[in-house]
Amino acid sequence: EEPSAALAVPQAGEPGLRLLSRIGVADPESLDEYRANGGYRALRRAFALGPAGVLREVTDSGLVGRGGAAFPTGRKWQATASQPDQPHYVVCNADESEPGTFKDRVLMEGDPFALIESMTIAGYATGAHKGYLYLRGEYPRALRLLTNAITQARARGLLGDDVLGMGYAFDIEIRRGAGAYICGEETALFNSLEGHRGEPRSKPPFPVEKGLFGKPTAANNVETLVNVLSVLELGAEAYAAIGTGKSTGPKLFCVSGNVERPGIYELPFGATLGDLLRLAGATDDLRAVLLGGAAGGFVRGDELDIPLTFEGTREAGTTLGSGVVLALDSSVPLPRILLRIAEFFRDESCGQCVPCRIGTVRQEEALHRIAERVGTSGGAEGSADDIALLREVGEAMRDASICGLGQTAWNAVESAIDRLGAYA
Ligand code: NAD
Ligand code: SF4
Repeated sequence: EEPSAALAVPQAGEPGLRLLSRIGVADPESLDEYRANGGYRALRRAFALGPAGVLREVTDSGLVGRGGAAFPTGRKWQATASQPDQPHYVVCNADESEPGTFKDRVLMEGDPFALIESMTIAGYATGAHKGYLYLRGEYPRALRLLTNAITQARARGLLGDDVLGMGYAFDIEIRRGAGAYICGEETALFNSLEGHRGEPRSKPPFPVEKGLFGKPTAANNVETLVNVLSVLELGAEAYAAIGTGKSTGPKLFCVSGNVERPGIYELPFGATLGDLLRLAGATDDLRAVLLGGAAGGFVRGDELDIPLTFEGTREAGTTLGSGVVLALDSSVPLPRILLRIAEFFRDESCGQCVPCRIGTVRQEEALHRIAERVGTSGGAEGSADDIALLREVGEAMRDASICGLGQTAWNAVESAIDRLGAYA
């Protein structure tokens, strides 16, 4: 079945594509090609608007964070800009580690100058002169291309003491992560940047007030930042007209699993899960789809009318998160997948707080026992006590963990039990 006309996906190079417009078109190593394909128009407009004008545009665009939590970017930037404490910092969270998420990698490897330009705009709007780009350690190609982009931008006066001759100083330093999922949590990321253990801090205070080195910090995901270029190029009103009322603009979806064409898809918010999966060529015997990654939740293979918006997924009792869409057909052994997710959380828990440190271990143990029963008898008979234990431990992790890792570690398992009828 073809997707509806309204959702026809523009192909690379076509005007409708925004976030992926240069990918596969402009050489990611060439600043000249970046500029020839629209690069640095947004920064020029930012300088014409002034910091307050940029803050207004970003706020009016309705742009919300693409890391997963959908916090309004304009509000975050306004709050950072308004802090009297100095200096201010911009941090790009490029520690993309949610299982099934690879959109930021595609942006950084395919269009690295776009991230450098958008971080410069973020710095200008929030009153920062230094930006840190915290890059997932397992992305060596992105590291090479971003390092090259920063070097070229510096040499051409697009970073440094006097950006574009406008009297604004801004520079970017790349720091590499070392393979810990928890360092993508923004306050653990700050600790890592400061040379401490990558353990989350309690929030509040939020980073806009006390972030990196205890100073006001605007921390944004890669895709969020790259969207700012479209906000400034199109203007807030035109940008807000893309997508839906509460989820404005374009969105990248990371499609994987049992589909013929896995990869990154750019769609305006509002496409349904079924639209996206038809584009990606999902198999007919779809059993389940994991939305939002390991921290997200499963929906059934017959729930394809869920709109892929933050509000639509919330209303459907699930999450869009960072845009993971992992399709599973009936050949996939669900108990094994759940066990793998539990292993992941047990492994990645930083161990700082008890509910998560102990809860992720208990969760894995219970799922292991259930998986063994399924393995020997083909069913999960006799597992009621373990399922009750999973619920109890899961609620404790959700209610009492310090950070999102512990709070979401039971989401996928819970949704598999309640929504998919796993072990029923
Ligand atoms: P959060 O809701 O605590 O915060 C979201 C953002 O809004 C943060 O930057 C926070 O500082 C800011 N914020 C929230 N309230 C604020 C306030 N009152 N004033 C100022 N700023 C405020 O969520 P989180 O723990 O940062 O992120 C959780 C999300 O991360 C989940 O949706 C999860 O799916 C996602 N995630 C993504 C990846 C990835 O690789 N992309 C990995 C793990 C988790
Ligand atoms: Fe660390 Fe888990 Fe506590 Fe987060 S919830 S601080 S990962 S122990």
